[in-house]
Amino acid sequence: MELDEYNKEEIIEMHPQMEATALRLANSSEVKYKECLKNHAVGIGGHALDGCCGFMAAGEEGTLDALKCASCNCHRNFHLKENKGEGFHY
Ligand SMILES: [Zn+2]
Repeated sequence: MELDEYNKEEIIEMHPQMEATALRLANSSEVKYKECLKNHAVGIGGHALDGCCGFMAAGEEGTLDALKCASCNCHRNFHLKENKGEGFHY
């Protein structure tokens, strides 16, 4: 599938350090991942979201699939991150 190939490329381009930080934050359960913000039409100069409204891990924690959304297939980093420790006060 074309979209899968595209996602793989973007994952490789990310810094490993950033990935480690994201994992650490996720494990602290201070961070919630909300709607997907990946622009699927960026290749044609447009703007189209996939409509996914919440990250759901596609696999077990510690595996590569754990960073992939089960509903939209995008990497977790494409999802809006809500960090309770930063700026958000209820
Ligand atoms: Zn998505």
